[in-house]
Amino acid sequence: MHSFRYVGDKLFCEGASIEALVKEHGSPLYVYSAATLTDHFSKLDSALAPLDHLVCYAMKANSNAAVIRLFANLGGGFDTVSAGELQRVIAAGGDAKKCVFAGVGKTEEEITFALKKGIYSFNVESEPELQRINRVAAKLKKVAPIAVRVNPNIDAGTHAKITTGTYENKFGIAFEEIEGVYARASKLKNIKLRGLQMHIGSQLTSVKPFEAAVKKVVPLVQKLSARYGFEFFSIGGGIGIVYNPALASADPAWWNTPEGKKILTPATYAATLVPLLQPLGLKILLEPGRFLVGNAGALVTRVEYVKKTGKKNFVIVDAAMNDLIRPAFYDSYHEIVPLKRNAKAPTISSDVVGPICESGDYFCKDRPLQKVGEGDTLALLSAGAYGSVMGSNYNTRGLATEVLVHGKKADVVRKRQKIADIWENEVVPGWLKKG
Ligand SMILES: *Cc1c(COP(=O)(O)O)cnc(C)c1O
Repeated sequence: MHSFRYVGDKLFCEGASIEALVKEHGSPLYVYSAATLTDHFSKLDSALAPLDHLVCYAMKANSNAAVIRLFANLGGGFDTVSAGELQRVIAAGGDAKKCVFAGVGKTEEEITFALKKGIYSFNVESEPELQRINRVAAKLKKVAPIAVRVNPNIDAGTHAKITTGTYENKFGIAFEEIEGVYARASKLKNIKLRGLQMHIGSQLTSVKPFEAAVKKVVPLVQKLSARYGFEFFSIGGGIGIVYNPALASADPAWWNTPEGKKILTPATYAATLVPLLQPLGLKILLEPGRFLVGNAGALVTRVEYVKKTGKKNFVIVDAAMNDLIRPAFYDSYHEIVPLKRNAKAPTISSDVVGPICESGDYFCKDRPLQKVGEGDTLALLSAGAYGSVMGSNYNTRGLATEVLVHGKKADVVRKRQKIADIWENEVVPGWLKKG
């Protein structure tokens, strides 16, 4: 489902006019739809109803406290990748006992914190990490629940920066080595082997790689579970979303691609995977990030200048790569639409660019867009995942305001960062102040 659509010629998020939101809160502005967040969580959750399961939202995709709280209220757990994220869950009113802790570089301090909070499982990425968790748990007189992350060596076939399930990257432990790792882990006194985990990549738009990975790993889970008494198997995240053009294909078929093909839906995902997973009789964990939040957010920006050079038409906006780095980082596509549609306006091939001093600071190149001018506003759609969370202060630009729309209402869920707060922790040493 998609909650950004035109009412007349004006773009709305649910029942709220986005133009009115920009008037009130300024630009750039992240706008999230509570209805879409809820709908995507519920669709996935109910598709998996035949399984004992827990949806652990991969909160690195969007860790705003309101988003966390919304998923916690729906019964979700969380896939965290740092002690900071775990602290965020707790601060937002989530349950640490429904959290897993992933990542290749967990520090002693982070492991200590997670053990004290009683998380559900550590997703372990190496044998040295296993040794460290055992040592820290012994010091605390605790037993640490763990799952080893298996790398099934399946190519998810997505962008190189988001493929994680092959031996070319740093994640997990090779499929062939897993049995040996569990045998050695079973001898560690302060480790409890609670399950097995995998995650093969992000933005997967076909169920095929998931199917291949599950088919490959299920027999291993069966074998290890019989040996060590598992509680769960986590199949990771990675369900892809439609970026292009999300808006044109409004509900109920928002996942139709321009070619008219349906990409991965929760129903297809479940129909393929549930029968493969059911015989395990284990709790199944999922770690979706992008799927839950991606289509639920837009980044709204104002046009500052239109600049023509040679054949190019540059639309210079007040949002930049520090607000949304995905185009620069992953060559990713975001649909860009005007807040005020004008059927009579000509369409011009445009580059939408930010003000930052980097040629990577662009949102699209040579894209046919409605002609816009200074003061007009645009929305970059499907910016709810890996958008605001990757924000930075590059060029001493404050982090954008975030609002959460709920019907006709919109609440600020993050205030605009004050510029002076950016250098708050910087110190000019005394010797420099003399003279
Ligand atoms: C990033 C990540 C996810 C979420 O990926 P999405 O593509 O956003 O669903 C899940 N599990 C792990 C281990 C991850 O690193």
